[in-house]
Amino acid sequence: MSEINDLKKKLAMACRMLCFRELVDYSGHISVRIPGTDRFLVNPHPISRAEVKLEDILTFDLDGNRLEGKWDLPSELPMHTRTYRVRKEVQCVAHLHNRMVVILSMADRPLIPASNTGAIFGLGAIPVYLDPALIHTNEQGDEVARTLGAGNAAILRGHGSIVAGESIEGTFAACIDLEESAARFYYASLLGPVRFYTEDEVNRVAKGRGRMPVIQKIWDHYAAKTKLAGLMANL
Ligand SMILES: [Zn+2]
Repeated sequence: MSEINDLKKKLAMACRMLCFRELVDYSGHISVRIPGTDRFLVNPHPISRAEVKLEDILTFDLDGNRLEGKWDLPSELPMHTRTYRVRKEVQCVAHLHNRMVVILSMADRPLIPASNTGAIFGLGAIPVYLDPALIHTNEQGDEVARTLGAGNAAILRGHGSIVAGESIEGTFAACIDLEESAARFYYASLLGPVRFYTEDEVNRVAKGRGRMPVIQKIWDHYAAKTKLAGLMANL
């Protein structure tokens, strides 16, 4: 039981950290699989992402049934259920409303690794799901999961993105990298043609950046900044 509470607390922290970094706004959500089960935890629909608490976190099964918690479910839950169903190794899913990623998608500009923060998404353009409607049905969730494929991120045109990973910390770090990668790409593109990373550059940079000590450092850094901003009280 205390392990579940630890996971809920870490998820509430991640939610506030994503809010502090403005990767989620009044909407957007992050979930984590309860290890070894077909259940997951997620932040609820009505509670501000800036002040979600351990006790607010909801528990769902992969059919989208609420098993625990008093609040309404996030309106785009099928993104989580359908991704967990087809990606057994995925432990955490985040749905972001991240500005710079959305801006690139509005201009049909592919997001291709051209700086170190883009490397963990692999060679080539991050896949884009073209329908801007919110993901309310299992069919839409399946289509988002198909767009994500075996990757760790997909862009939702005009809307945001989905990021999947094997830990809360790793997924959070990827959320940070995705938006920073888009911002760098945008500013560089104002100066002229962008020089993309080669396969070898992507592989070597991703290898270093995907290490757990680096991921933990990113997590600790944003946890500290979020705390300094006053958004970590009463978890
Ligand atoms: Zn959304």
